[in-house]
Amino acid sequence: MTTTLQAPGVASAELMELLRGMLEEQYAVDTDRLTRMTVHAALPQRFGRDLRTLAIQTTSVRRRIAETAQALRRMSEGSYGLCGDCDQAIPLGRLRARPQATRCASCERRRPFAAAG
Ligand SMILES: [Zn+2]
Repeated sequence: MTTTLQAPGVASAELMELLRGMLEEQYAVDTDRLTRMTVHAALPQRFGRDLRTLAIQTTSVRRRIAETAQALRRMSEGSYGLCGDCDQAIPLGRLRARPQATRCASCERRRPFAAAG
């Protein structure tokens, strides 16, 4: 087991910085969204949203915040970009489309009805 700062599948430090920037931006956007949702839930009209819809949306934003935080942690640990199931490098195209991905596409497909990631 070697420890590298860069995941094997990731071409350059520059690209890693790009992905880190995407994750940090996503984190900022989602935490802001969660704050606003929490405020909306406390308002009488809730801007036309019912509590159930708001609860579902809040859960999904919370989940993405957790996934984003985990991805940033994997980056600092050097395990970012590796599939959690088969240990192979996750293709860059997939990471760029979904920087929080923890599995390669083929392992993901083998997980029936699991949450995307
Ligand atoms: Zn895999």
